[in-house]
Amino acid sequence: MDFQSNFVISGQELWKWYYQAKVAALKADIPTTEVDWFLGELVGLDRLTLRLECFKDWPKIPRGISMEELDRLWRRRLDERVPLQYLIGVAYWRNFSLDVGTGVLIPRPETECLIDLALAATNTFPNLREGNWVDLGTGSGAIAFGLAEVLTNGSIYAVDCSSEALTIARKNAAKLGLSDRVIFYHGSWWQPLEHLRGQISGMVANPPYIPSSMIPSLQCEVSKHEPLLALDGGSDGLDCIRYLISTAPTYLVSGGVWLVEMMAGQAKAVTEMLEAHGSYSQVQIFSDLEGVDRFALAYLI
Ligand code: GLN
Repeated sequence: MDFQSNFVISGQELWKWYYQAKVAALKADIPTTEVDWFLGELVGLDRLTLRLECFKDWPKIPRGISMEELDRLWRRRLDERVPLQYLIGVAYWRNFSLDVGTGVLIPRPETECLIDLALAATNTFPNLREGNWVDLGTGSGAIAFGLAEVLTNGSIYAVDCSSEALTIARKNAAKLGLSDRVIFYHGSWWQPLEHLRGQISGMVANPPYIPSSMIPSLQCEVSKHEPLLALDGGSDGLDCIRYLISTAPTYLVSGGVWLVEMMAGQAKAVTEMLEAHGSYSQVQIFSDLEGVDRFALAYLI
């Protein structure tokens, strides 16, 4: 994070704060590494300096944030369970540093695999590499940026129905130097892409897939702070996935890729829906790094 050094604190004072913040984190069942991450971003101390506590004897540590503000933000982590990424305004995903705010889902590490799966599909079918790829429900833009990076000759389109999300995604594109690689559209799923009917080589999405009734039982960080729009997949969680199965055949080229993330336990239902539709072949399920069946991929016949 860029900051101006308007404030100064002694190493001793900061160490005291660091120590009490770690004790409070433990009590609140929050990993103490979050304190390192928090100070790393907001004070600019690297992780090794923090872990070795070498800063303890420094007479002056310049900062861009007052101790009161730092403490106020950390209290929001403890008391309101605001996810750390929203407090520091940044999430790291693949090799990107992405701005995030409460208008977008915090991109998850497991979602990174979608990019590798899309790339693997284009290695199997190289003709898909140079075509049009879409990220439906782009949020912070993460998937679109991942696609832009690996499909260097592809045209990437990113759609979201939330203008708040698109503002963040566009800002991220500019920050990453990808503004001319990703074209953003405001609208619902395929609606802004009418002109690309039958011309899309790959559809990638991390749609809302959590059953509505499960949302209140999710971690407070998720249920109270992340956008419901990005989480709630209707009564069985499959509303959006069902919709994407039925609508994608109008937009994909023959042999085009249909690729989504889903929740643990949904693989069987998604496979059955794809197979029953009759327009898809080679339906495959892939697991994430924790071994959870998390991704469904199919090709349009
Ligand atoms: N993976 C998110 C979670 O763990 C859910 C994202 C989604 O619904 N697409 O809560």
